[in-house]
Amino acid sequence: MKNSASRLIGLTGGIATGKTTVSNYLAEKYNLPVLDADIYAREAVAKNSPILQTIFAHYGERVKLADDDLDRSSLGEIVFNDLQEKQWLESQIHPYVRDRFQQELHYTLNNTIVLAIPLLFEAKLTDTVTEIWVVSCDRALQITRLQQRNHLTLEQAQSRIDNQLPLVEKVAAADVVLHNNADLADLYAQVDTAINKKDSFQ
Ligand code: ATP
Repeated sequence: MKNSASRLIGLTGGIATGKTTVSNYLAEKYNLPVLDADIYAREAVAKNSPILQTIFAHYGERVKLADDDLDRSSLGEIVFNDLQEKQWLESQIHPYVRDRFQQELHYTLNNTIVLAIPLLFEAKLTDTVTEIWVVSCDRALQITRLQQRNHLTLEQAQSRIDNQLPLVEKVAAADVVLHNNADLADLYAQVDTAINKKDSFQ
């Protein structure tokens, strides 16, 4: 991906491990631009978009709301329980997300840029960054944070976590691991250390 930035930080991790907490801190404390894959993924399926039309053609009325918008919860239920459909859906959305990163990187002029990409590995975006940061936390804590934030039962929280690439695999592929098992001050101190590292990861 063409960009003059010397550091392109790919920020990822498991669901509810603290990715947004870290990207907000990087934006606020270090004034870094944050490009957010979730925004592009939502854009991909915006009302009247070509990808949304393809999704409607594939799944029919059951994923369409009365106002022709996407019924996210119905779609979520389909793909959550069917790996093949999950992969099909991702194959529609991920290329769009990759293109959007490319466009935005073209216009974002900064020495360090944060790319917040929950599905960095799954969307094969690792090549677009110069270093990979994984936010991790103990499973029990991840379940508690996810349950509290999204008001889920234990079973729901567990199955959302188990539906993702295992966090240990992400950690194994990381250049920097942020262990978010304590309070925010502890997390921010780890971010400070990682951002101030002089050596390049390339
Ligand atoms: P998602 O994958 O769902 O987008 P995320 O990885 O971006 O989640 P956050 O939203 O940053 O995770 O954090 C999940 C929840 O845990 C939030 O409610 C956040 O406020 C809380 N949280 C994160 N880190 C800590 C911490 N160190 N101490 C207490 N609460 C925390």
